[in-house]
Amino acid sequence: MEPTSNYSVLIVDDERANLLLLNQILSGEYRVFTAKSGAEALSRAENESPDLILLDIMMPDMSGFDVLKQLKEDPATQDIPVIIVTGLTGTDDEEKGFSLGAVDYITKPFKEAIVKARVKTHMRILDQIRTLERLGFSDPLTKLANRRNFGRRLALEWRKAIRDRALISFLMMDLDKFKNYNDFYGHTQGDILLKRAARVLSEIASSSSDLAARLGGEEFGLLMPGVNATNALAIAEKIRLDIGTMRVPTIDGSKVITSITISIGVNTITPVKNDSPKDFISKTYECLIAAKAAGRNRVVSDLK
Ligand SMILES: [Mg+2]
Repeated sequence: MEPTSNYSVLIVDDERANLLLLNQILSGEYRVFTAKSGAEALSRAENESPDLILLDIMMPDMSGFDVLKQLKEDPATQDIPVIIVTGLTGTDDEEKGFSLGAVDYITKPFKEAIVKARVKTHMRILDQIRTLERLGFSDPLTKLANRRNFGRRLALEWRKAIRDRALISFLMMDLDKFKNYNDFYGHTQGDILLKRAARVLSEIASSSSDLAARLGGEEFGLLMPGVNATNALAIAEKIRLDIGTMRVPTIDGSKVITSITISIGVNTITPVKNDSPKDFISKTYECLIAAKAAGRNRVVSDLK
């Protein structure tokens, strides 16, 4: 019989009877893979990329906890949600499972309805995650946040800053004469340069609350909640220097130092009720325009 959904489940249990039972419960709906040991589970997880794993804890060679730990350490498998299956009713095991990154647990003996419901819940969450990915919150070329994602985060951080009476700093940046570069070296080389510049930004946007975004063609933004004006200015200067001296690989693999520079507008605010994020962005943009007008390759902040 063909499963009714496209999702797949890997069932891991050292006892054949359990494997058979879970397989029987789930195979009508999902593609099911099984593994009888931890080692087999790790290799199947890597090779089959299941959408969900049901993982037994008590196994002779390698415990489910060890399997879980290894799954979470491997970039190929770390995002696969894991439901731990335990005969142990101690909440310690559930806690340990959660702390290692499991998303849920099921206790033995199995109740068919519960197994089905738990699995269905996690498949629904997967659906939502994939929808978000499909809607696209990142720029495909540079992998930075795209404009849509930036707008969403700005709105969120703005509300938080009003509530906490906290600072927000923003850098708006534009590569100087990028069009000339693109015309001279071609679009492929232009894309390489954009990716390299994006990496410089990602490396500098080190704090987890910072958000580096590609706002348009050669225009980038860096949103830094909690960063004061002095530090924002220092970060902008560092970006300007790093972009000005970055080495950009050429299409044929040899390296060149680019002659590209960047202009940056910097703005900092402690927003209060009725302040508009739009005005804040426009003022930052004015700083960027002023940097361009003053001869490019410079930082202009609203302090000056
Ligand atoms: Mg077992």
